[in-house]
Amino acid sequence: NKASLYDKQTESKVSFKDVAGLQEAKAEVEEVVEFLSNPQKFTNLGGTLPKGVLLVGPPGTGKTLLAKATAGEADVPFFSLSGSDFVEMFVGVGAARVRDLFKQAKEKAPCIVFIDEIDSIGRTRGRGMQMSSNDERENTLNQLLSEMDGFNSDKGVIIMAATNRPDILDSALLRPGRFDRQIMIDKPDLNGRMQILDVHSKKLKLSDQIDLKVLASQTPGFAGADLANLCNEAALMAARRDKKQVEMIDFQDAIERVVAGLEKKNKLISKDE
Ligand code: ATP
Repeated sequence: NKASLYDKQTESKVSFKDVAGLQEAKAEVEEVVEFLSNPQKFTNLGGTLPKGVLLVGPPGTGKTLLAKATAGEADVPFFSLSGSDFVEMFVGVGAARVRDLFKQAKEKAPCIVFIDEIDSIGRTRGRGMQMSSNDERENTLNQLLSEMDGFNSDKGVIIMAATNRPDILDSALLRPGRFDRQIMIDKPDLNGRMQILDVHSKKLKLSDQIDLKVLASQTPGFAGADLANLCNEAALMAARRDKKQVEMIDFQDAIERVVAGLEKKNKLISKDE
């Protein structure tokens, strides 16, 4: 089923106000919004638009969210696919999907094409993994490179990609005319955590005793996704306790739960390696 892979072509309803913190990253993608809103303004003067923007940072820090918000702000379609979809695919399928995706995107320009986990197709070629899957990955990567070279970004197709492993990316991806812009997205600091908690706790019925600053100080190392999860766990905890509002104690207990979950995940990861 072709359509499902692209997360369909979606009209993104996400905007910058849904993305808490990340001021610098937002300022940088603001430029992309301007390009997409009015490509001619830039090309009239003879300049070439950037093609690719790479968002680099740990899991759950809002890279996908920011890419969607960029599309939402520019009011353009958002096409997405994830590199991990290609990992176990039959020969030729990955490359065909990439070709298809770009074909659709060019028809709908201006638009954003988002490739999540680009490292799973874009790692340095010719090393590791068994032969067959490696070949397929290389085909997919080569197709992506040739698509990026083959179109003129003046029409306004901007490719955004996300990775948490920039160190293993094939250097061909980072050449000028490909992903030549990189934006770092780090885990949030105290202030950032407060802002993210603010966005996600707005959806909850909160007691007025809730102090987001205290909660932010109790959650060092939490990424945005962990904080979103925390808000949800706190609400579930309060519901289980038959409360009408979510209280500090529910958040506190939820923090313990989320921390325990994160520790378990880390253990599993280190066992894998
Ligand atoms: P991955 O690398 O795992 O794909 P990611 O960096 O793309 O992660 P997202 O998928 O954008 O992370 O984030 C997951 C969820 O976490 C978002 O849908 C949102 O609910 C929440 N979130 C993460 N960062 C932020 C943020 N800065 N502001 C608000 N919500 C955030």
